[in-house]
Amino acid sequence: MIPLWWCWQQKGTRGIPEQKQGAFATDSPVRESCDRQGAAAGGQPVKMELTDQQVMIRQAAAEFAQKEIGPHVREWDRDAHFPVDVMRQAGELGFLGVLVPESYGGAGLGYVEYVGVIEEIAKVCPAIGLSVAAHNSLCTGHMLLFGSEQQKQRYLPQLATGRWIGAWGLTEPTAGSDAGGTRTTAVRDGDEWVLNGSKTFTTHAAVGDVVVVFASTDASKKHHGISSFVIDKGTPGLTVGKHEDKLGMRASDTSEVVLQNCRVPADALVGREGEGFKQAMKVLDGGRISIAALSVGTAAGALGHAIDYAREREQFDRPIGAFQAIQFKIADMATETEAARLLTYRAATLADEGKPVTTASAMAKLFASEVAVRVAEQAVQVFGGYGFVKDYPVEKY
Ligand SMILES: Cc1cc2nc3c(=O)[nH]c(=O)nc-3n(C[C@H](O)[C@H](O)[C@H](O)COP(=O)(O)OP(=O)(O)OC[C@H]3O[C@@H](n4cnc5c(N)ncnc54)[C@H](O)[C@@H]3O)c2cc1C
Repeated sequence: MIPLWWCWQQKGTRGIPEQKQGAFATDSPVRESCDRQGAAAGGQPVKMELTDQQVMIRQAAAEFAQKEIGPHVREWDRDAHFPVDVMRQAGELGFLGVLVPESYGGAGLGYVEYVGVIEEIAKVCPAIGLSVAAHNSLCTGHMLLFGSEQQKQRYLPQLATGRWIGAWGLTEPTAGSDAGGTRTTAVRDGDEWVLNGSKTFTTHAAVGDVVVVFASTDASKKHHGISSFVIDKGTPGLTVGKHEDKLGMRASDTSEVVLQNCRVPADALVGREGEGFKQAMKVLDGGRISIAALSVGTAAGALGHAIDYAREREQFDRPIGAFQAIQFKIADMATETEAARLLTYRAATLADEGKPVTTASAMAKLFASEVAVRVAEQAVQVFGGYGFVKDYPVEKY
């Protein structure tokens, strides 16, 4: 398998081998689809042509996913098993530190490369796509954006290479969409902070080696009184609570972080006191792009399986793909997936250009996640009764 750093060294390479055909042979070429202007939606136009290097990076991610993840999807989904060894391998290949500069052990790439990686992994397994996205964008992204130099030196090389898995706890039982309603507290006590509270729905809470959590350091200031802290696994007072038994994406660990008189040193504070909410909003700008890419990959994976099945399955003496009702479905699924991909690449391109992405990333995430649901549902219809059973792949999208 090709590590990302190798692709990076091939900058300007010509004559890339043809994109692998197979389960996703019908997926439209991204290079062609992105070679357009993204001016629709009233935003700034952006040029979105993939370079040879970006195409290679997608291929490297696709190869990794098909070889190391594909054969195990059903078993991991059934057992809600998070494959730590495969995540470590993803880290060795550069997929867990895509945006982290090479000086901190990362791949040093941009958002366009990053969304390609997430899309290709999610095509094969949305759960692992979610884990890779959360690790890169949330915990690692937070340390990259707001960590002190000392914190970056300590955490980024471990996170970017997958030696450590990262978690990021913002959500609480009573603070979901309203993240400013954080009730977890952090009280200064000499050279330490003492944290109490809990964080629900935290990706990698159980399997993670390090977690960034948000806590109120001054309740009277509401949003402006929230701060963020980085805490290592094994710190007394930090434990894992309930593991969520999810409807989908079951191979991604989603659990509760519990903080009971958890004492951390003063330098566990990330950035300045009271800036946690602003930090979270900034981290989520990037996180939304990765969830949009996750959704595009989910839709493209379901679409690929639906097309394969429409070619193979025969009824009334012909493949069901010969019936126009099925063709219409597939045309709509492909068109919506492509539209979601364009919005996602537009947001990624704006991020790489250092332009504001709050609106573009929210649009991409909103549209792409709804497309993922619609396309997955239509894929189940194409499979008929077999779409409803676990032996067949589409019920996992
Ligand atoms: C698989 C998975 C992984 C996750 N990983 C993480 C993670 O790593 N870290 C983390 O911090 N969180 C994580 N989350 C949590 C996620 O961010 C929250 O689920 C999300 O913020 C919504 O919060 P909630 O579930 O409490 O829903 P609520 O906020 O209770 O919303 C319930 C419903 O009300 C609607 N609603 C809420 N407010 C309004 C409003 N003002 N106007 C109109 N409608 C409204 C919502 O749209 C929703 O339909 C994860 C969740 C899942 C499912």
